[in-house]
Amino acid sequence: MAIIVQKFGGSSVANAERIQRVARRAAEAAAGGNQVAVVVSAMGDTTDDLIDLASQLNPTPPSREMDMLLSTGEQQSIALLAMALHAMGKKAISLTGAQAGYQTDGVYSRAKILKIDSQRVLDELNKGNIVIVAGFQGVGENGEITTLGRGGSDTSAVALAIALNADLCEIYTDVDGVYTADPRIIKTAWKIPEISYDEMLEMAVLGALVLQPRSVELAKQHNIPLHVRSSFNHSQGTIVKEVAPMQKDLEKELIVCGVAHDLHVLKTTIFGIPDRPGVSALIFGLLAAEGVNVDMIIQSGTREDKQDISFTCGRDEKDKVAKIAAQVVKELDAQSYLLEDNIAKISVVGAGMMTHPGVAAIMFKTLADIDCNILMIATSEIKISCIIDETKINEAAIALHKAFHLDR
Ligand code: ASP
Ligand code: MG
Repeated sequence: MAIIVQKFGGSSVANAERIQRVARRAAEAAAGGNQVAVVVSAMGDTTDDLIDLASQLNPTPPSREMDMLLSTGEQQSIALLAMALHAMGKKAISLTGAQAGYQTDGVYSRAKILKIDSQRVLDELNKGNIVIVAGFQGVGENGEITTLGRGGSDTSAVALAIALNADLCEIYTDVDGVYTADPRIIKTAWKIPEISYDEMLEMAVLGALVLQPRSVELAKQHNIPLHVRSSFNHSQGTIVKEVAPMQKDLEKELIVCGVAHDLHVLKTTIFGIPDRPGVSALIFGLLAAEGVNVDMIIQSGTREDKQDISFTCGRDEKDKVAKIAAQVVKELDAQSYLLEDNIAKISVVGAGMMTHPGVAAIMFKTLADIDCNILMIATSEIKISCIIDETKINEAAIALHKAFHLDR
């Protein structure tokens, strides 16, 4: 008997009718003779609404209480889904993260899963239950409820698939799969049938919101293929796996597999920093200590023993970063700092660029042709990202999709 893990995101369980649809989907998989574990997110915008509610009572709510609050979102959906299955005459049981054996570290709001003690889930599966598990949550050593960070249910699902040694891990969402670009902006974008973990990881990090990057990393480490597909139809979605070299040969003219954009970027510049050892260590040490995830970094050349340092991170870190920047200016006797959030990141991703020179040149030329100024550049083996003006982002995405022959 095969074990299948199915994960349903918030939009797939947003209301009663959709929960019924998910119930039918899980029941279908069980009727096919499989043992089925279902991981669900909170209904629709529940998590956002809870965050909003909290902020009305406390501008900086204690992270312990935030986790206590946010974990209730997923607890609603598991119970409702179990009820829907019962109403259909199916055997099902809902389990919170703690009940399902998710042990995490003690870092509230971005806990890491240390291990899953899957005995309870296995017992329930063996009793013939469809087991419904609350995503996004676990329990720290001291019995404290923790959450895994936004989008964490994806990671919950992959971790459960690993712990159960599942045969299949399906990630159900409100889009048909992973696209070459955001199909809402680029009408000519198309669904990628198969994508490698590394390419998916870059796409996910760069703002293609279908999968939490950590879940892709985890799947890669354990070589678990993921099937990203729609909960609204039965069409084949995108398979994320170690793509065989033969597959790559077949598609060799496609150097780039996707264009990703991210509007959620904050750029910080600290001007006139004395040029001496230890200044970067200080700045990025402070950011790390506050848990700010820094993306791109640029250090300018030195003029009169002074230099500027710019870096980017997520926009939601603005308050923290402003405080740290002010502290840095004071401690290092720098000139000033500037936060800019009217910028965005546009990236092209593709394993093909490892073997094809000139990708950066095409990207920069394409941006130049639409009169788009580049503020920062970052590269990895398989991606190139540029920070540009926010207002240019759609135009840039469309132009790059075309320039790399992705239009279909
Ligand atoms: N409900 C959580 C969130 O909105 C977790 C998830 O959906 O994966 O981020
Ligand atoms: Mg999600």
